[in-house]
Amino acid sequence: VANLATRGESKKDVLLGGLLLPGFDEQSCTSRYQSVYYRKNMSRPPSLHLVRRLRQQEALQRRCGPGTEPYRRASERLRSGQKVGDGFVATVDGCGYLVLISYRGLGNRVLATASAFLYAMLTDRVLLVDPGKTMADLFCEPFPGTSWMLPKDFPLDNFRDLGEDAPESYGNVAVNRSGSVSGLRFVYMHLDHAASPANRLVYCDDHRQFLHRVQWVVLRTDSYIAPGIFLNPAYKEVLDMMFPRKDSVFFLLSRYLFHPTNDVWGMVTRFYDSYLKNADERLGIQIRVFDGDKPFQHILDQILACTSQEHLLPGVVTAGGAPPPVVRSKAVLTTGLNSWYHDTIREMYWRSPSATGEVVSVHQPSHEEHQHFFRSIHDMKALAEMYLLSLTDKIVTSGWSTFGYVGSGLGGLTPYIMIKPENHTVPNPPCKKAMSMEPCNHGPPYFECTRKEIDKIIDTGNLVPHVRSCEDVPWGRKLA
Ligand code: GDP
Repeated sequence: VANLATRGESKKDVLLGGLLLPGFDEQSCTSRYQSVYYRKNMSRPPSLHLVRRLRQQEALQRRCGPGTEPYRRASERLRSGQKVGDGFVATVDGCGYLVLISYRGLGNRVLATASAFLYAMLTDRVLLVDPGKTMADLFCEPFPGTSWMLPKDFPLDNFRDLGEDAPESYGNVAVNRSGSVSGLRFVYMHLDHAASPANRLVYCDDHRQFLHRVQWVVLRTDSYIAPGIFLNPAYKEVLDMMFPRKDSVFFLLSRYLFHPTNDVWGMVTRFYDSYLKNADERLGIQIRVFDGDKPFQHILDQILACTSQEHLLPGVVTAGGAPPPVVRSKAVLTTGLNSWYHDTIREMYWRSPSATGEVVSVHQPSHEEHQHFFRSIHDMKALAEMYLLSLTDKIVTSGWSTFGYVGSGLGGLTPYIMIKPENHTVPNPPCKKAMSMEPCNHGPPYFECTRKEIDKIIDTGNLVPHVRSCEDVPWGRKLA
């Protein structure tokens, strides 16, 4: 990175305080060691304990991962249903596995992957991610000398069709089988945001009940399950050591795990260098509309009300007024499926000078019009845009959107969250400064782990100081 070093930035800690390992081939994944040059210094360095746990997990992934003898034996056992000894199969070869099913949008998948990785670390399991159709085009391998992608010859046919009523589901094993896993080849954790209370019981599993007896666990989630895991007393001690600060769990995990491939990184850096780099300040505005993909006036009004209320964007001088002298430049990155919001804001600052003397430029990388599934280039744009959002200085996001959670969390940015409008009117207030940069879990547990009363709903936002009700989704829970 000679050209970057000559910018006088050669002292940057590319390994992020021990979060990353040296020695990966730089050319095959340039983002891994270069992204630091596009970012401010790490506001939340990793704890020594987290760094130690990451090194242990890397060793486990290498020792038990695809291509190894233990993996071959474990997948043969899964295929044949062969039982081992008294059924304590997770201890065979010391290799247990957590297979993550990928579904829903990219933001959902990124949140699911980061929090599944945390769960894998806590339970000493190898994380294997179902790569779907696009993952290999999006991310580099995070672990040295092995792969985190579920091999194509994974023996469970149709595992992507598993649903919460499956005989192997955690809820079924816990409630209807009293924890007996005899005859089951694996246990299925169903943590979709709309999972039944019985399936959410897994949030309270202390790994002493029955999960430790199964070598294979298949997990389906579209959510950031970490806040639920932090509610489980069984993990309190180790989580306190790994994360002395609870507001940067996703930030650290995502900076460790998600390194865009060279193609995506090229999209990020070309856009950044062309439109954002030279501005005095960068503002990200992530626009996600759940009412439909056409333009809505109330959404534009909400964006402008929020940026005005929070002094993020200046007002404009009305026609004929004398423009103030130019003082500084502000680059605005908008992302969204539609380009109308971007076009309108850009035109506003073209037709009229800003009241403060700021020169405001507005840029949007793409407008895909509709969400698509299983298309590499569509997902690559989405990832490049989440990443670009994370490189801004301040960020406004749309409530409910996992896309926005990733943009702010990855960037270490506490967002201004626009509350989801009801009845096509601008909410009051239009946005709120979030309490932390952490994503919201839309499907948390509603019971206390000490009681496990699944038919009684209690407020889990008051149980421990660092798990709270989310700003945008009142029943959601987030770390702060
Ligand atoms: P969420 O639905 O807002 O929670 O976010 P997801 O990322 O899970 O799903 C939305 C999907 O729609 C994305 O993954 C993209 O495929 C697409 N999408 C939504 N907003 C944008 C955007 O601003 N830019 C791009 N390129 N794609 C978007």
